[in-house]
Amino acid sequence: MTALVLTGSKAARGIAVGNARLLEGGDFEVPEYSVPSDQVSAEIDRYRQAVLDARITLKAMQDNIQGPLAHEVQEFLDAHLLMLEDATLAEGPLEFIRSRSINAEWALKMTREQLLDAFSAMEDDYFKARADDVNQVVGRIMGALVNKVTALDMDALTDRIVVAFELEPAQMGHMAERGCLGFISETGGPLSHAAIIARSLGLPYIAGIKGARQMINEGALLIVDGDRGFVLIQPDAERLSRYTEKQADLRRKANSLVRLRGLNCQSKDLIKVRLWANGEHEADLRLARQNGAVGVGLYRTEFLFLEHGKEPSEDQQYEDYRKAVLALEGLPLTMRTLDIGADKKLPLGQNPNEANPALGLRGIRLSLTLQDSFRTQLRAILRAAAHGPVRLLLPMLGQLSDVHRVKAMLAECQYDLESQGVVCGKNLLLGGMIEVPAAAIIAPQLARELDFLSIGTNDLTQYTLAVDRCNEELEDWYNPLHPAVLQLIAQTIDAGKACGKPVSLCGEMAGESRYTRLLLALGLQDFSMHPRVLLEVHEAISLCEIKKLERMKDEVLFGEHEDILGLLAD
Ligand code: PEP
Ligand code: MG
Repeated sequence: MTALVLTGSKAARGIAVGNARLLEGGDFEVPEYSVPSDQVSAEIDRYRQAVLDARITLKAMQDNIQGPLAHEVQEFLDAHLLMLEDATLAEGPLEFIRSRSINAEWALKMTREQLLDAFSAMEDDYFKARADDVNQVVGRIMGALVNKVTALDMDALTDRIVVAFELEPAQMGHMAERGCLGFISETGGPLSHAAIIARSLGLPYIAGIKGARQMINEGALLIVDGDRGFVLIQPDAERLSRYTEKQADLRRKANSLVRLRGLNCQSKDLIKVRLWANGEHEADLRLARQNGAVGVGLYRTEFLFLEHGKEPSEDQQYEDYRKAVLALEGLPLTMRTLDIGADKKLPLGQNPNEANPALGLRGIRLSLTLQDSFRTQLRAILRAAAHGPVRLLLPMLGQLSDVHRVKAMLAECQYDLESQGVVCGKNLLLGGMIEVPAAAIIAPQLARELDFLSIGTNDLTQYTLAVDRCNEELEDWYNPLHPAVLQLIAQTIDAGKACGKPVSLCGEMAGESRYTRLLLALGLQDFSMHPRVLLEVHEAISLCEIKKLERMKDEVLFGEHEDILGLLAD
């Protein structure tokens, strides 16, 4: 028997094997009836009461939040509380009840449809993801109206894979505590809040499988492959044993890697390698410290902007950056300035109809165009840097003159702050991302002008090969092992070494242990990756003889071997 395969979007990596637990809700099959005119005002009161009940539930959840994701969950709940207060949800249904004499559930359903229509008309993935929040808040009011059982009241979820219409981020931590192994949802995508939480929890998540709850029966055996973005329903014995073994292997390996915590990372031939973490959320920063990162090598500030849905004020940015600096307890935090544009969209005043956004006003170009916003961010970073070591990293750099302009603006912001008596960090190290071929080619000049370089292979691969990193149909062409990409990586590392400036690599390649030997052969000494995979790369490095690998560098770059990883195998 062949298993049914459902494909969706890869929202969080990992593998889970378990039985389906279907969640109620999300489909909004609600009673629809007319209300006699003398009962309209009672119906209005009933709706107001439901909004109040939803508010009380959210507040109670806020008071009870504990655990590693408390900060993130508080933020979701704050956003949901704000939505509950917004006139569209608080007042909109009342207008339908009054004008059409319909029941509160029906009125709420109509308001929800209006809101979702408005969201789905937007091209933007970010706003589409916010439609999930609308659904969750509406679901909560609806729950109060029809007395629906919510996911929080569910039985134990031990060894279950939750299949939901949509996932409420605030509940995912509880689900994990109850033993849930992974998530599937009909809505959402990799940019949704739920995806961010699943990644922090370390649980696989496939989003956007429309009709999943029709195709998956309660209790059905499932394999969730978050690495490849599919779900297998009722897999055959052979697949099941393959995946069960793979999963058990992963678990055993993860457990055995804990022994590396607290040990310096060095190769078999005793060469030290620095492992940095990529991360934005409190849980990531904590894990970074636990797993022995020497600091955070990439803190993507755009996530803060995306989570706010608009540009945060200087004080809001300062508060978040300060918390991140303090969470690292003295380890350096590499803060990348805003990298909005292309796949990470947020309307900040740029032209929404850019013909070619991946080549458009993004990264440092956007910051240098919206200079007031950039100054706000630089000021917030400078203020946060008073609380611990901060390094500044510029995204999508392509020309030397941009570095000069940033330096001038940075000096000006520092001068302004200090003249106002505001304490700020001094002598921040300034680094540049090498993400476009032009930057890699002028790496010697950039390295002289900057304090460090960081290679972003996710974009460097995209721009070198002219292959969209987000288009799954181009998967066969998106090849970070292409000789052109490898030569640009090697040139950048060499450029840094020639003038004694550190070069790290913070694209996904750094966190994939199958590439560790290759990157060491190219001379890389600073790796930056999600803290969850840090120990795996630490172990891979400890098994290598770096000097021997480095001797193979020319063969790797120019030897025209089809199987480079095989060439470097032990
Ligand atoms: C990269 O391009 O490799 C990188 C780390 O930046 P991002 O993935 O945020 O574009
Ligand atoms: Mg990038």
